Amino acid sequence: MNRGRILVVEDEKQISDIVKAYLEKDGFVVTVAQTGRLAVSLLKERFDLIVLDLMLPDMDGEDICRTVRADSDVPIIMLTAKSDEEDRIKGLGIGADDYVVKPFSPRELAARVKALLRRAKGTKQSVSFNKGDLVIDSFRFEIRRNGSPVVLTPTEFKLLQCLAEHPEQVFSRLQLVNVILGYDFEGYDRTIDAHIKNIRHKIEEDPKNPSYIKTVYGIGYRFIGRPDED
Ligand code: CA
Repeated sequence: MNRGRILVVEDEKQISDIVKAYLEKDGFVVTVAQTGRLAVSLLKERFDLIVLDLMLPDMDGEDICRTVRADSDVPIIMLTAKSDEEDRIKGLGIGADDYVVKPFSPRELAARVKALLRRAKGTKQSVSFNKGDLVIDSFRFEIRRNGSPVVLTPTEFKLLQCLAEHPEQVFSRLQLVNVILGYDFEGYDRTIDAHIKNIRHKIEEDPKNPSYIKTVYGIGYRFIGRPDED
């Protein structure tokens, strides 16, 4: 089974080995480039997604990203080491589709790779999880649980959609406030708990033992539903 070709640009062998092993286990064909120069020379080949470390010994990851974007819209996930690099990626709009902050779990990265490939396909506006148990239809703004429609408020829908688009990624309450309101508003973050509680009552078999939205104590929430394969 070949689910797609992935180019991993990463100079730290320890990291690239783990990433490669994980993605290969999921059925991807993985090519690793340990230098920016090698990565650029490999761009002639066709890849379905690129995992790109921002800090490389010979070239700046940002420059590689721009080089790729000059003639390709292949999905790119940036690997960054520091939170100020996060800001650089957000601020510069250098064309990365997503980013993961080191240290990251290979499982999280693999989940993000799959989510990004699904988004990149574009035509598929509805995604299902846990063997068809939960369907999120972003085209019709509908949720179906076990085949039956579930009515979510627009805010609840937005929250669920955001979490489900980034499986395994932990979102703080403040980040989720930002998803809803478009800006940070400290006084609002506790209402996130109320929204999540409502969503759980609508989509979880057992809201106290959730199979979709898990609480990350002291931080926020993450989506743990398993996306169904195509
Ligand atoms: Ca590096």
